Amino acid sequence: MSYPIAPGGLAAVLAHPDDESFGCAGALALAHEDGATTRLLVVTRGEAGTPDGMPDPSFGDTREAELICAARAIGLDEVSVLDGYPDGGVADRPFETLVTEITAWLADRRPSAVITFGPHGVTGHPDHIVVGSATRWAVERLAESGIAPNAVYVLSPIFDPSGGLYDLSAEEQAATHRIEITSLADRKLAAFECHASQTDTASIAALRAAIEAEAPIHEGYHRVRPLVPAPHPNFDTALL
Ligand SMILES: [Zn+2]
Repeated sequence: MSYPIAPGGLAAVLAHPDDESFGCAGALALAHEDGATTRLLVVTRGEAGTPDGMPDPSFGDTREAELICAARAIGLDEVSVLDGYPDGGVADRPFETLVTEITAWLADRRPSAVITFGPHGVTGHPDHIVVGSATRWAVERLAESGIAPNAVYVLSPIFDPSGGLYDLSAEEQAATHRIEITSLADRKLAAFECHASQTDTASIAALRAAIEAEAPIHEGYHRVRPLVPAPHPNFDTALL
């Protein structure tokens, strides 16, 4: 059964099932809790997330089921997965087509704010990088039509409780928004745990330990549109 979902709210455009859980599950859960519409567009089905890294179409079914599990844990109103983009090979598909498809998805939904990957894609995964770039091009298309979202953020995971440090771009290192997700961190953990076929046990263990220690837990974001000086050192604390 389908039903109309209100425009506005917070949308994430990411590459793989599970990107939402390590990336922005907390911010999406907070937005949902505040009554905002929450949406996710995933470009691939994650069929190359097998133990040996060999793509397996039936494994894509498993990962989509895990994605739906995570979406329920987070409180997403809608999840979409694009067709025709191979996990690990998004950059091999026509970039222009990807931009057009993301533009259409956003134009139909009109989120107030969009989250995507920054220039290094957090982990350097090429799918992350091309999806982040395509999403930002899509927003510029929307701007030409006068329907750009109010804000675009890239994941800036410097507040990852695992302390995992990647080779991040300047944008990704310089969070402008520091979102406290402590009250809903259990949902982020539950979303993580939905992706049982993946083995990111260090991140899960770190998050669980932070919850058990009742430590404050944050997600970091860098607003890349509109571009204005960041409000360091206090950080903005809401995305919408
Ligand atoms: Zn990914």
